[in-house]
Amino acid sequence: MMDVSDLLESLKLTLPAPAHAASDAKWEGAQRLIYAATEEAYADVAFATAADVDSAVHRARHAFEHGIWRHMPASERCAIMQRAADAIVAHGEELAALHTLETGIPIGQARTMHVPRSAENIRFFAEHINSMAGESYDQTGRYLSIVTREPIGVGLLIAPWNAPLVLSSMKLAACIALGNSIIIKPSEYAPLSVLRLVELVHAAGVPKDVVQVVCGPGATIGQALVAHAGVDAVGFVGGTATGRRIMATAASTLKKVGLELGGKSANIVLNSADFERAVDGSLMGIFAGNGEQCLAGSRILVEADIADRFIDAFTARVGNLRVGDPFEAGTEIGPLAFAAHYDRLQAFANIARTDSQYRVLAGGGRAPGFDLGYYFAPTVVEAADNAGPLCQQEIFGPFVTIQRVANLDEALACANDSEFGLASYIWSDDLPSVMRARRELRAGTVWVNTPMARDLRAPFGGFKQSGIGRDGLPGSIELFTEEKTTMIPNDPLALPKLGTAKN
Ligand code: NAD
Repeated sequence: MMDVSDLLESLKLTLPAPAHAASDAKWEGAQRLIYAATEEAYADVAFATAADVDSAVHRARHAFEHGIWRHMPASERCAIMQRAADAIVAHGEELAALHTLETGIPIGQARTMHVPRSAENIRFFAEHINSMAGESYDQTGRYLSIVTREPIGVGLLIAPWNAPLVLSSMKLAACIALGNSIIIKPSEYAPLSVLRLVELVHAAGVPKDVVQVVCGPGATIGQALVAHAGVDAVGFVGGTATGRRIMATAASTLKKVGLELGGKSANIVLNSADFERAVDGSLMGIFAGNGEQCLAGSRILVEADIADRFIDAFTARVGNLRVGDPFEAGTEIGPLAFAAHYDRLQAFANIARTDSQYRVLAGGGRAPGFDLGYYFAPTVVEAADNAGPLCQQEIFGPFVTIQRVANLDEALACANDSEFGLASYIWSDDLPSVMRARRELRAGTVWVNTPMARDLRAPFGGFKQSGIGRDGLPGSIELFTEEKTTMIPNDPLALPKLGTAKN
């Protein structure tokens, strides 16, 4: 494996400001980025200060209030956003490389999924600029009531590390397409691809104060942004515990909050499934993106009659997964993103090895053949009981549990026996079973005979502890706009004449 300085050299990557190549001395007030494949430091990213937070919010508000962006003709804003999407495609290799460098997600997936999806996110919302419509009520009464939507002002995105390009481009595009300014606080672990994305957005013509990035730790800089009175709406994507803190902080200034949180999604495989497709889809559902996905199908519930056959086929394929250098085109699983996350997965593996309700069928610790790097072997654990930690807690890595269920009833009970409710998957060619599962699964999305797929016109988000609000077009409009009602009398009103009585 190439060491990280040779890698940066060969990729001809320039680090976007405020990142600098890591120097020997560790820098206070900066995040040190470590390349997950070799555990070498490669960049320091300067943290913003409290004054930077204030200045960013002030500039975002000023841009909004002076209409620098929102009063620009819609066709012009749309054209600028389309240029930004073109720039993402044109700089796709560079963005994909930064993404792989900071996340460890294989370059093939960054190129074919994360970069194109980011450009599509921007195009989708750009096209929407021209189609905002309101409502009017004029059938009865003396008034014409007109309901319009107006941009909320300054939006904030607090982002996680696992899909920096896709998630930032989505909120950025939605927020500015609706006429707002946005500030993005990327994860400490994955700021580079977001910083570069925003440079491209600026170069395409979006004013600098309309989209800004503020880097720093969540507990200080993130918290200060959420608490700031000049921020009107917070879109948070991250863990459930952090989401609770963000909601509490935002309450003191009564901000709108959208929370896209963790998941522990059930993946139900019935006897009636197309067997091969169910195996292929279940593998994709958990191992795409190194398994570090909120929507991962991390709990497989397989009907007893086909359980042995499914487990054999699934674990054989897991044993064949190509774990390796994330910059190799054929790699299917790269290293986990950072050391603390690797340690967290090791702790779950330890539970799997020592608690008698679990049986490790594949993996269960460090990936063989790697002395360095946060390489974790793709892991399959059979679980006897849904109540234990491996079936209840979000693990967020290439780690899946399999449970045998007697029938659809038990599968549904098990799937819903979770504090999370982000997504669920069902594999079956029996229409009544599919329809029943669709109705009864307590999750924001039900994928039928497909691994994860998204339609930006449709809402995406969680039931229960997986979130509040929805991503996608309707939910973004809800988060980033205010409704306004205007009432106009149909005829001049005969108003009571207060103050004319003779005393
Ligand atoms: P995290 O909650 O640790 O951090 C997310 C962001 O919040 C980071 O930018 C962090 O700096 C910031 N933050 C932390 N404390 C804060 C505070 N007190 N105030 C303001 N900001 C604060 O999550 P993570 O580890 O980066 O991401 C993984 C989690 O994200 C998983 O639980 C995953 O399921 C979830 N996720 C959800 C979705 C979804 O659409 N539902 C998508 C991707 C990831």
